[in-house]
Amino acid sequence: MFSFLAGPRRRRAGDRPPVPSGPLAIWMTCVEDGREHGVTDEEVARGSRHGGRYVAVCGHLVTPGSMTCAPGRRCRACHAALTPPARTRW
Ligand SMILES: [Zn+2]
Repeated sequence: MFSFLAGPRRRRAGDRPPVPSGPLAIWMTCVEDGREHGVTDEEVARGSRHGGRYVAVCGHLVTPGSMTCAPGRRCRACHAALTPPARTRW
């Protein structure tokens, strides 16, 4: 019933993907636990003035490794906090 109203939204060529609505963050791999944590842009600015360690979204104190190293496994808590919830279809 009413399936003609609930069809999937068609994307046209040139449509942009949806912009995430969560906080802006970058992912940093910590040399101490080997995991990739999310750090907000505000914390990046703060941490660069305080010894180069950053408080991740999950609360972990990140000591970033070399930018040339492969990223570690992503921290579940940071991932959950920074990933917008899936949209519910009605
Ligand atoms: Zn984390």
